Amino acid sequence: MTLQLRFFPDPILRAPTEEVTTFDRELHSLLDKMLVTMYAENGAGLAAPQIGVSSKIVVMDVSRKGNEPIELVNPVITARSGKIPSEEGCLSIPDYRDTISRSALVSVEAQNRHGEKVSFEAEGYLSVCAQHEIDHLNGILFIDHLSRLKRDIFKRWFKKHGGQV
Ligand code: ZN
Repeated sequence: MTLQLRFFPDPILRAPTEEVTTFDRELHSLLDKMLVTMYAENGAGLAAPQIGVSSKIVVMDVSRKGNEPIELVNPVITARSGKIPSEEGCLSIPDYRDTISRSALVSVEAQNRHGEKVSFEAEGYLSVCAQHEIDHLNGILFIDHLSRLKRDIFKRWFKKHGGQV
């Protein structure tokens, strides 16, 4: 069963998220459903606000075969360096893609579904995907990183497609 996605400009995408403190069956079930939803939507990542839950939870899979799920609870970026261009889209903003600038390398600290600490360094696609998803937990969308000119282009595109910013 997949979860209902929330789409821009749904205010839940801008709402603050809460830290997860209980690592119980309910959390495990939510993580499982988020992964099923992410794979069903052909996404490389999904953050809890995108399915209407204001919690610090992210799932990702940047492998080519889509068989390397990553679950991050309460993730934070603790260090970043360098810059790389990143062409991105978002399941909450269907059909819109653009190139933004991201940090090239990031260090991430998080917990797994059992509450155990995990940390890793990421580069390339994993790095930009982690930045995109962790941004969601802070109410930030990839379009927020666009230059003013590109953001105006986005606004026009969004209006044309029936939306209101
Ligand atoms: Zn997104």
